Amino acid sequence: MSITPRSGSTPFGRLRTHYEESRAVCPACGYEDEGGEWRVSTTGRRVEYRHRCPSCDAVDRRELRL
Ligand SMILES: [Zn+2]
Repeated sequence: MSITPRSGSTPFGRLRTHYEESRAVCPACGYEDEGGEWRVSTTGRRVEYRHRCPSCDAVDRRELRL
């Protein structure tokens, strides 16, 4: 009797979605600020993300409802 261990099924999760959301692309000039700073502020049940483009200084705002 021999048992061969199965390998290759590592659960990766869905952290990649987080990565893609944290990547900011400026809507004004198209500058891609990978790992750019998002300022997060919460107001009640909403979360507001703000990102300032280092290239053209435009502010991108995104709002999430919890
Ligand atoms: Zn820009």
